[in-house]
Amino acid sequence: MTKNEKPRPSNFIRDIIEEDLKTGKHKTVITRFPPEPNGYLHIGHAKSICLNFGVARDYGGRCHLRFDDTNPKKEDPEYVRSIMEDVRWLGFDWGEHLYFASDYFDKMYAYAVELIKMGKAYVCHLSPEEMRLYRGTLTEPGKESPYRNRSVEENLDLFERMKNGEFAEGECVLRAKIDMASPNINMRDPVIYRIVKASHHRTGDKWCIYPTYDFAHCLSDSIEGITHSLCTLEFEDHRPLYDWFLDELKVECHPQQIEFARLNLNYTVLSKRKLSQLVDEGHVQGWDDPRMPTISGMRRRGYTPESIRDFCDRIGVAKSDNIVDMALLEHCIRDDLNKKAPRFMAVLNPLKVVITNYPEDVVEELTAINNPEDESMGTRKVPFSRVIYIERDDFREDPPRKFFRLAPGREVRLRYAYYITCQEVVKNEQGEIVELRCTYDPATKGGYSPDGRKVKGTIHWVSAEHAVKAEVRLYDRLFIKPNPAEDEKKGISFKEYINPDSLKILKNCLLEPNLAQCKPGDRVQFERLGYFCVDPDSQENHLIFNRTVTLRDSWAKIEKRLAGKR
Ligand code: ATP
Ligand code: MG
Repeated sequence: MTKNEKPRPSNFIRDIIEEDLKTGKHKTVITRFPPEPNGYLHIGHAKSICLNFGVARDYGGRCHLRFDDTNPKKEDPEYVRSIMEDVRWLGFDWGEHLYFASDYFDKMYAYAVELIKMGKAYVCHLSPEEMRLYRGTLTEPGKESPYRNRSVEENLDLFERMKNGEFAEGECVLRAKIDMASPNINMRDPVIYRIVKASHHRTGDKWCIYPTYDFAHCLSDSIEGITHSLCTLEFEDHRPLYDWFLDELKVECHPQQIEFARLNLNYTVLSKRKLSQLVDEGHVQGWDDPRMPTISGMRRRGYTPESIRDFCDRIGVAKSDNIVDMALLEHCIRDDLNKKAPRFMAVLNPLKVVITNYPEDVVEELTAINNPEDESMGTRKVPFSRVIYIERDDFREDPPRKFFRLAPGREVRLRYAYYITCQEVVKNEQGEIVELRCTYDPATKGGYSPDGRKVKGTIHWVSAEHAVKAEVRLYDRLFIKPNPAEDEKKGISFKEYINPDSLKILKNCLLEPNLAQCKPGDRVQFERLGYFCVDPDSQENHLIFNRTVTLRDSWAKIEKRLAGKR
């Protein structure tokens, strides 16, 4: 965290922690961020990361990074690598506290044996389908499994044989013996171990039985001495089970599970399952495609860690679900880059302009301001000459009302340069405009007129002779609906709502020469066009820029309107 970041706003979880420290229930706070390495992290995970690492930092405790790797079929070391990279990039550090649930498989196995010995767990041979039928519904109690009352000896023997690989996948499971009539379905003899015959990314072929999330999570928390186990609301109904395991096993450390609302963001999806479909089916170019709400996608798009942390602070942490507007996320990155990003001129859709009364062989070095928000960023020189390019959109042959840019006979200011007046429009045989012929007023150097005459428009430009060619990728929302998954119940996939125009590639953009030295990851503002970030695909002679966000800030408008109403 940089020094000038604001103090975190309080929330109900911080209140609980402060109380626990005050009353002496805990001497320190130990949290964990527990991702399953089955995909890349997304902005929802950032909320959890900022919360867990944030409270640990603010209350002088620590936060563990623990991989919840109990499902070998879906997990991959590539995901482990990317998750570590993303957490670090966000600005957090787990120090020496990197853990894997798989490190505890021996301990968990011993705990399961203990439960069996207490008569609190049994091996069940019901098929998955039968198990579903026996489980009952929200309104009807479940039915006890015919295997429920096996003897401890028989269960110990069967469980050992499960471990030794004597049964096929799905043939049997180990279940906790709790209460088939419980109103909470999670308590109806949940499965705690299942057979999975797959190689594990860390334990290899040592195990063919793996603990379920509910069994592994509370025990991992307990083994690590976690004080506050923060998770999202969908685990609220699992809390009695979390507590049941720890109570029955009489563990020394019994962490408190506290649930908070997950982040939902409009115009995107935040589920690894859905995101991996987008990747696997080629709807995007990869997990780090700049249109993805993944941390790596956002990084490639040009988001800063500071802007994501700021976003997580602003959305807060509460108990009730809501949907956050994408405009807030965009506001946060604009706010950050406005202060940091140096300004440059770039023309995305070039239109040639010849300044007929400017000498042929003269090149002037004009002074431009690097960042009007930060004087210390200084100035730079930009070359100006007889032939320049302007943005095609900045000229209209028949300007509509309120169009204040260039048009036949009209005078505008070229940013940092001169006033020019359009004298002639040159077209090709197809009737397309290929060139404008303009005159300039030498007395307006720097963009000011000596006689006080005003121009309504200021446009950006680049000198033709000096311009650097570049590719620019413009991104739009990945989905056309605020909630792309809303029709899933009707059988309509979220993928039906992918925005076909979410990526526009412009190959013939022209940049001021000062941009020639840019390196992948550099973030800049192209005046009037937005914030851009150099893509890692760039090569020495082929620069590629991703547009992070435009300059127009709809969130600022919303805030202003709300403030006006108050
Ligand atoms: P997904 O639903 O995307 O598959 P997950 O919950 O299965 O996510 P995990 O790897 O288990 O992914 O998540 C690690 C941690 O991040 C968990 O504590 C989880 O509660 C939290 N988390 C996941 N998604 C969000 C979200 N949208 N908002 C806040 N926290 C989240
Ligand atoms: Mg999960």
